Amino acid sequence: MFFDTHVHLNVKQFDDDQTETINRAREAGVEKMVVVGFDHETIPEAIRLAEQYPFIYAAVGWHPVDAIDFTSKELTWLEELARHPKVVALGEMGLDYYWDKSPKDVQADVFRQQIRLAKKLDMPIIIHNREATEDIIKLLQEEDAASVGGIMHCYNDSKDYLQACLAMNFYISLGGPVTFKNAPLPKEVAQAVPLDRLLIETDCPFLAPHPYRGKRNEPAYVTLVAKQIAALRDVPLEVIEKATTTNALRLFGLLEEK
Ligand SMILES: [Zn+2]
Repeated sequence: MFFDTHVHLNVKQFDDDQTETINRAREAGVEKMVVVGFDHETIPEAIRLAEQYPFIYAAVGWHPVDAIDFTSKELTWLEELARHPKVVALGEMGLDYYWDKSPKDVQADVFRQQIRLAKKLDMPIIIHNREATEDIIKLLQEEDAASVGGIMHCYNDSKDYLQACLAMNFYISLGGPVTFKNAPLPKEVAQAVPLDRLLIETDCPFLAPHPYRGKRNEPAYVTLVAKQIAALRDVPLEVIEKATTTNALRLFGLLEEK
């Protein structure tokens, strides 16, 4: 079985065929997934899906692009929802220097508040990083995020930063870009990550793997990510399937109920 650690079945791109998409994932062997919520609309929908399907879990967090809208009300709301039995992580949270809706200092403050919440609740963190790697690592170190660890979601850096992430007890999650042509960095990373820290994801509806690049992504395609990683590491697919699933179950505290 495959575990897609980062899906957004909770967005409008799946309004028309959410159920069919979930069925296709199951048929492809994707037996577990985490639906990640990141704002007022997607968080309740992530929880709803987790309540409807036994094999779906939720993560709740506030996206850095919208940090400017985050108040103590949202923090209290996140804490309440994080205590839901199907919520397995806090996030996505982090820093996004590509879009400029929220100033950097506001993003950093909202990120810190959420890391502190994760530590209070003893839950892993899911990191969103866009063009902000060094600041994210510095902030995670300052806040001692190593005590909870988490996921570098859709890791998009060279392998130079791997050691810092691994040292903070973070897992490295790879998605569609590892299958892209002319994308040497994620391929190098796929070969370098220790097997016991590797995760796979789609981040659907975004970042569809080859040969679906540019189209809508969906959880069934996480198998293509796993196949590419297996080829790059020259191991049977089952090795990647088993390791990434076990890693996800361990990180999310689901090993007992497997
Ligand atoms: Zn995401």
